[in-house]
Amino acid sequence: MSRPLKQLWSALEQVPDLAGVPSEWRSLLGGDYEAVARFLLPTKRIAGSVRCTAPGWTCIHEIRKFRGEYLEVCPDGCKPTTRSRDEVVVHRLDVVGFAREIAESLDLEALPAEAVPNMAGVWRIGEFAPSAGYRYAVCLAFTGEPDVLRSVVDGMAARGEPFVLIAPTRSAFGHAAADLLKRTGSLFLSLDELIGDGDGRLSLLDGHSAAGVFAEFRAAHVPEPEAEDGTAFFPTPAGARWEHVSIRFIDRHSVYINVQGVTGKYHCAQMGMARKNNAKPTVQWDLLEAFAEGHGRLDWRNSKASRKNQKRKENLAADLQRFFRIDGDPFALEGDGWRARFAVAIRE
Ligand SMILES: [Zn+2]
Repeated sequence: MSRPLKQLWSALEQVPDLAGVPSEWRSLLGGDYEAVARFLLPTKRIAGSVRCTAPGWTCIHEIRKFRGEYLEVCPDGCKPTTRSRDEVVVHRLDVVGFAREIAESLDLEALPAEAVPNMAGVWRIGEFAPSAGYRYAVCLAFTGEPDVLRSVVDGMAARGEPFVLIAPTRSAFGHAAADLLKRTGSLFLSLDELIGDGDGRLSLLDGHSAAGVFAEFRAAHVPEPEAEDGTAFFPTPAGARWEHVSIRFIDRHSVYINVQGVTGKYHCAQMGMARKNNAKPTVQWDLLEAFAEGHGRLDWRNSKASRKNQKRKENLAADLQRFFRIDGDPFALEGDGWRARFAVAIRE
């Protein structure tokens, strides 16, 4: 169960510098205050002035230090009030903690939130990584100004990569920003529509799932399992390494693959290792089979080993890197030959 937050999102677009004294935060956040109080951390700064929080009043009160006490004084005649230190200390939104919970509720790879250089109020909070080799920057912008948000979209679009931009509400997301975003194949998310308070943690509102939120974006950028040229797209989990890959031959032309629970049966042609003219396996495929026969090893004593294999092994490494989109060499030098960093087995 996740409870919608009614005032938080627009408040975050209104508070300059995401900072204020507790009474200002309370009055802006209303019933949402308790749900996010853990993110409002005291700074070392004492406020010089505070907004009057009496309903209907807009006066600004000066904070004076007087005989070890803090006094809130109104130029327009509100009654002076004594305040404790904590009441006049500026509290700022802990963007790192706040962004981490947002990123986790959206199943992103969270990064410690970092201010984006030259873009005021914009934080890089993580990456959307639907598959190995596919990562997209996710940024959070706190502005309520359409012009500012448009220039943020402008700046990010200039990098030429699709991205995900998150804002508290849609209020600043105008037509110009929407057009630009669409042209770069990027995604805009509005937190008030997605995130609520799930028992002391920010979490997705009921009826939403991270997969659903990113479904369209993912479909637009991550290839379908079968491409037109006959090669297949293997949905390697993001972060997988060669050690996580297992390849087992089923017959002369096909293998069964398992990478961290993502599995499938693939023909040599689907893995880009069949000859174009007759769909027969390439020499790289034969070499993969030789590795399987050698329980992942191939050395000069093996009858299939030859000087030509150096080049073939390099080509096989390239074929495998293309198919799985995992960085690094899938083979290691060992003794008189090579050892596959992945598990490879021959048919039984
Ligand atoms: Zn006043």
